[in-house]
Amino acid sequence: LDYPKSYWNDPYFLKINFLLTYIWTTIFFINMVLSFTSFSLLTIFLVICGVLSSIFLPSLLVKSFFKKKFKKYPDWKPRGREVIIVGAGIGGLTCGALLAKNGYKVKVLEQHYLVGGYCTSFKRRGFTFDGGVESISGIWEKGPVKLLLDELFVNSQDIFIRTREAYVLNDRIIDIPEKFDDFINLLIKMFPDEEDSIKNFFNLIEKAFKELYMDIDKTGGVPLPQPLIFKVVGFKALFNYPREKPHVYSLLNKTFGELLDEYFRDEDLKRLISTLVAYLGTSIEKTPALSMAIIYGYYINGGFYPKGGSQKYANLLAKIIENYGGEILLNHKVEKILVENNEVKGVIANGKIFKAPIVVFNGNVKQLPMLINNLPKDFIEKIRRLKPSVTAFITYLGLNMDLSNYPPLIKDLDRGIGLFINSNLDKHLAPKGCSTLSIITLLPTDIYDYFDKEKMDIKTYISRKRKYAEELVKRAEEIIPGISKHIVIMDAATPYTFKQYTLNYRGAIYGFDQSIDAPPRPYFKTPIKGLYLVGASTFPGGGIEAVTISGIIAARDIMGWSNIRR
Ligand SMILES: Cc1cc2nc3c(=O)[nH]c(=O)nc-3n(C[C@H](O)[C@H](O)[C@H](O)COP(=O)(O)OP(=O)(O)OC[C@H]3O[C@@H](n4cnc5c(N)ncnc54)[C@H](O)[C@@H]3O)c2cc1C
Repeated sequence: LDYPKSYWNDPYFLKINFLLTYIWTTIFFINMVLSFTSFSLLTIFLVICGVLSSIFLPSLLVKSFFKKKFKKYPDWKPRGREVIIVGAGIGGLTCGALLAKNGYKVKVLEQHYLVGGYCTSFKRRGFTFDGGVESISGIWEKGPVKLLLDELFVNSQDIFIRTREAYVLNDRIIDIPEKFDDFINLLIKMFPDEEDSIKNFFNLIEKAFKELYMDIDKTGGVPLPQPLIFKVVGFKALFNYPREKPHVYSLLNKTFGELLDEYFRDEDLKRLISTLVAYLGTSIEKTPALSMAIIYGYYINGGFYPKGGSQKYANLLAKIIENYGGEILLNHKVEKILVENNEVKGVIANGKIFKAPIVVFNGNVKQLPMLINNLPKDFIEKIRRLKPSVTAFITYLGLNMDLSNYPPLIKDLDRGIGLFINSNLDKHLAPKGCSTLSIITLLPTDIYDYFDKEKMDIKTYISRKRKYAEELVKRAEEIIPGISKHIVIMDAATPYTFKQYTLNYRGAIYGFDQSIDAPPRPYFKTPIKGLYLVGASTFPGGGIEAVTISGIIAARDIMGWSNIRR
């Protein structure tokens, strides 16, 4: 059998290859000895054994390898059709909407007075600002967000607007073209010495991206984690993975930094095409190359902004849940998840018991040891080891200034800030002739203590918040001169703000660290029967598309993977 090159570096492939070589060497040796005798039937028998081993042994060994590997992942079957969802983030709402549509009795308990979690907007004196989300991926023909909306009978074009962006590098503003090919051509124009490398690099990225989504029809409209591929599509899909997805396979276990060094010499080029690492919150050196291939979907298929602000998208999903008979209870903080004999029984919120055989937890998983008595020790340890992702600081400005000449998204690599002028995408977000401007900077979560409002007097908190907010205005003014003279309203979100409204650990904006060497996120099925995880705490991670995927996976699992399109 001929195995393509993509298998050749796999340690398990090499082991099996070694075993087969050993088997054939032994057969040849025995046959050589037998050739001096008259045992020709035995010779033929041994050769047949060798051929059969070559044909069947690899798949048998690989199958048993995966079976053993995936044994540790919980695989209980949920029962009943009543589901409690803890948290109305996009992960929870997605899961709830799909389940409600399919006849499940869904109850969402949300501690805040609004649904959406991080996918939220707020109004100040006629200006609408977004909590932070400014560009959403997964809205294309095979994109999970688009496929979800199709399934919920919503036209994604009615909801989202294509956004545009520009980068600032060495004080030069670079408009990023909307078409992927134009983006590549722009890079070639800027860095002509690297033309071949640019073409080869993006060829690899595009192929890997397509491979990642090519089986989506067989997997319920979402990419699946390995144990689920094994369960839902079958072992062959994993066995054939390197053959069918050689470009994805070549990126596994590689960092984005290594990939860049393999292809490019120019440091400015490397910086420029690393801009979107911000959507993972990792350093270039520790970003998994495959994660970046997924993030490059923004260049391939575009990024989108919800018309009217992010809150509209969350509200839409909540409305769908209600339209299908589900219930959303706001201001309901879940204080306990009830478990008996390792099976979930319901939750307690506002001192009241809500019973259900299935609970989907959309909060940050660091809460679980406090919410559940006697959680298995190894699971607690797994949770304890998780490191938060980056957090952020945002200054929100309502300006009596027309910024329509600027692109809606400006990512300034020199100053480490992002500028979002959402009113350029939807003019209803600001009064006539005015603009909204949000200035964001990503920060390590160590900074959380500096803003921990509970550990300082309010004056100190406000003065620290103001200082940071003004610092960001100063940096932004170097790109858009004069803004400080046109401020109608100014507000800010600190890491504490992010934590306060969503209970996300240390205000982490993407859940947990997604570096290549970070402890893995917990599986979507917990060791407690009936208790699921959705949202940024589980596969595949932070970001609207990612948490949508998590919500779809949990819903499909609850429904038994029976209604997936094949
Ligand atoms: C500043 C910022 C910028 C971002 N930019 C982008 C972007 O441009 N594009 C993108 O795709 N993503 C972006 N993200 C990330 C994205 O917003 C998040 O990954 C995603 O929204 C998280 O969804 P989630 O399902 O994990 O739930 P979360 O948003 O974390 O919400 C969880 C919900 O559960 C509730 N909850 C928690 N615990 C309890 C409890 N015990 N009882 C009841 N309710 C509870 C919370 O109140 C909250 O409503 C950004 C995030 C931030 C903060």
